[in-house]
Amino acid sequence: MAKDWKKRTKLVHAGSRRSQYGEVSEAIFLTQGFVYDSAEQAAGRFEQAGDDEFIYARYGNPTVRMFEERIAALEGAEDAFATASGMAAVNAALSSLLKAGDHVVSARALFGSCLYILEEVLTRFGVDVTFVDGTDLDQWRAAMRPDTKAVFLESMSNPTLEVIDLPSVAKIAHEVGATVVVDNVFTTPVFSRALELGADVVVYSATKHIDGQGRALGGVVLGTRDYVRKTLEPYIKHTGGAMSPFTAWVMLKGLETIDLRVHAQADSALALARALEGDNRLERVIFPGLPAHPQHEVAMAQLEKGGTVISLDLKGGQEAAFRFLNALRIVVISNNLGDAKSIVTHPTTTTHQRLTDEQREVLGISPGLVRISVGLEDIDDLTADIFQALDAI
Ligand SMILES: *Cc1c(COP(=O)(O)O)cnc(C)c1O
Repeated sequence: MAKDWKKRTKLVHAGSRRSQYGEVSEAIFLTQGFVYDSAEQAAGRFEQAGDDEFIYARYGNPTVRMFEERIAALEGAEDAFATASGMAAVNAALSSLLKAGDHVVSARALFGSCLYILEEVLTRFGVDVTFVDGTDLDQWRAAMRPDTKAVFLESMSNPTLEVIDLPSVAKIAHEVGATVVVDNVFTTPVFSRALELGADVVVYSATKHIDGQGRALGGVVLGTRDYVRKTLEPYIKHTGGAMSPFTAWVMLKGLETIDLRVHAQADSALALARALEGDNRLERVIFPGLPAHPQHEVAMAQLEKGGTVISLDLKGGQEAAFRFLNALRIVVISNNLGDAKSIVTHPTTTTHQRLTDEQREVLGISPGLVRISVGLEDIDDLTADIFQALDAI
């Protein structure tokens, strides 16, 4: 594969494998296993499988490998392992790395299921976890210990869109030898430079922008070849959680168009945020691409654009938020993001329902907060829909 290909060329061609039929579109190798020519060949492959040799789909599959190589090329990672969902990826990235007695420092503004893994699962196996305000570098510094093995953060948090200063956090973590694991969903693989900025391990829910059309669950973990093959792969291949070949094909096709889609979504998100900023029915418009955002400069230094999600804090709390959601005609009420369809979510009563009022308050998730994942619809239609729903409050 040409290493110096530009992003869009990699997204269309990197990792491609053609069968003897020379198909144009990547084949779906819908098989759990592989036939060996001889007993000797089987024995040899179990001893050491070559780059293009497969044993069992839980360990790897040609369609899945194409997806892993394509996203690794995009991200500039040495290697990648694809998983059945984003949560399988987060769990494997952390569980493969940690053991009882290890310490982890994590940003506190996390996707609910990530919080569950850190708070409930890892601690049950004797891992000590300290939570910090991810935007406060002094808190990161104070939390580090000689036994800190890993640092975990979402580069842009859900749903309040805090952006973490990744180079600074990575520097603080590396001083004690901790591995920096970044959940990069909101940044998207298009705007990510996480590895270049100091992350050691990058995790995606492929369910979001990589599929981008709401069809399949998937995830991927990226890192050095040493980490992926020696630490991560043994964990995933023996505990399950590998991506299915059909899902890998959906995700491969998603990668072909991701750059076009995400740029269009980010441009619409900025246009919407600008149109909404200052509207007197809103307490706040949260979008990292707006100069008023508290981490606007960090965001612009790390990402090319402000992302594809905006959050609005409506005056009038939950009642206003529900009226707004129910009045939308184009934007659908759901909880995915990164989709071609614009999606609105009320975090307090859905994705963050499990938290206490106090936890939500600390995270800035007020009852009037709504999250909008901006899709690919015409920007004029989207803007009109959102303003007519604001009128309906
Ligand atoms: C959706 C999401 C996940 C989980 O991904 P699934 O594919 O739903 O398992 C993890 N982290 C973040 C930030 C997410 O948005």
